[in-house]
Amino acid sequence: PPIIVRDFAAALGLKPFKLISELNQQGGFASMNSTIEEAVAVAVAEKHNFILEIKHRGEPAEKKAAAQEEVDPEEEEKRNLQPRPPVVCILGHVDHGKTSLLDRIRSANVVSGEAGGITQHIGAYQVERSGRKITFLDTPGHAAFTKMRARGAHVTDVAVLVVAADDGFMPQTDEALKHAQEAGVALIVAINKIDVKGANIDQVKTQMQQRNIAAEDWGGETITVPVSALKGEGVDTLLEMILLQADMLELQANPKAEASGLIVESEIDFGRGPMATVIVQRGTLKVGDALVCGTHFARVRAMFDDQGRNIKEAPPSTPVRVIGWSGTPDSGATFRAVKNAREAENLAEEEQLRLRQVATRAAAAPKEVSVDQLFANIAATQARTLKVILKTDVFGSTEAVRNVLEGIKSDKVSVDIIANEVGLVTKNDVLMASAAKAVVIGFHTKLENGVTSMAKHHGVRIETFELIYELGDKVREMMADLLDPDL
Ligand code: GDP
Repeated sequence: PPIIVRDFAAALGLKPFKLISELNQQGGFASMNSTIEEAVAVAVAEKHNFILEIKHRGEPAEKKAAAQEEVDPEEEEKRNLQPRPPVVCILGHVDHGKTSLLDRIRSANVVSGEAGGITQHIGAYQVERSGRKITFLDTPGHAAFTKMRARGAHVTDVAVLVVAADDGFMPQTDEALKHAQEAGVALIVAINKIDVKGANIDQVKTQMQQRNIAAEDWGGETITVPVSALKGEGVDTLLEMILLQADMLELQANPKAEASGLIVESEIDFGRGPMATVIVQRGTLKVGDALVCGTHFARVRAMFDDQGRNIKEAPPSTPVRVIGWSGTPDSGATFRAVKNAREAENLAEEEQLRLRQVATRAAAAPKEVSVDQLFANIAATQARTLKVILKTDVFGSTEAVRNVLEGIKSDKVSVDIIANEVGLVTKNDVLMASAAKAVVIGFHTKLENGVTSMAKHHGVRIETFELIYELGDKVREMMADLLDPDL
């Protein structure tokens, strides 16, 4: 049978014009419908990592089988694409009702299933509406959103901008709008608190017009839904509009692929070890999968949904809490499934090595310092600073430690928390401390494997505490040490 350019390009997953240009480079005059000589076809197929089997007298059925063997991964991917639920975040000014709206949506639309689920705050949840799912990130405020975006992570498809009808656009509303626009996510405006006296929906719509995001009913394109998170009014419509928006975006993913996605948040549970909430973006995450995420890896021991239920498989757009991590990956980081646990561990180690090299190079790089800078540096050293990298079990602890440290008064030494995160003390922390000449303080947390020896090697001091007053005492001591003329 003749090999036609158009069909052959499709079989290879190439754009026809690309194939044509390749053929013409070999001195031909190919067009969409020209035939390709077998020898040429074999060579071209090989170049694109295919083996072309040509069966001259084969039965039609056989031909079909041969064609299937040369399935192109891209074609395969396209064929397996299926609609996936939208991932939504709620942004807006403080007190405009983001949390209330998230709570209202959640309580009214829990995904039906076996009963007995208990609401778990894992950083994201899923609801069902008209038999379709919607995933919400439930860390309100755009801090989480910004952090993810700073890493180049695109997790949200739709941003719901909450604007209180009695207050209108405020500075953080504009900031959130800017973030959403820069991230290129679809926007829906929820005009909230329509039940309060003084609510002025038209005023909000005027403000939208001034910002070039005019509401649909005002001749613009922005889907706008008046709601009351308090009374529940309009919330159903909002969900409907989110699904409509999702339809327009034609959100799809391949559930058959190897799983990959994003870390929403992570923390340490002393019973179950490090755990991370992830959103699957592609493929289906399964118990037993081996994952790598930057310097961390996991063998998925168990997964829990937002109602604390044990689940075995998580298809695209599902938020799940994954147990079995080597440490606590950062929110916004991407993970992917690999062949096995050993490969995951190797990849994580390679990444650690790479980071270490980057840090060493950065430390070794000569710095250009102006005379002014030099004097400023000397002055800064005279007013000495204890730099701290703080790691804690939960965010609440971070706040507690921060309060204690800020409460320590000294004219001569100040405390500067240069980084604080929830999770184990990692090798990365050691590298950072080494580069910044900081100490690492852990509160209600532990050290990742290998951290102690690495800290010794880099001369980094790590102190961990279970009691807040002991932490305070030790920090006072360290501050005094900084003033010791013998040091
Ligand atoms: P956030 O800071 O944006 O998360 O706002 P919250 O959800 O914490 O809401 C701030 C305040 O506004 C709370 O006292 C809520 O009870 C109140 N609130 C939120 N939504 C509504 C609403 O639709 N109507 C009324 N009357 N009050 C609301």
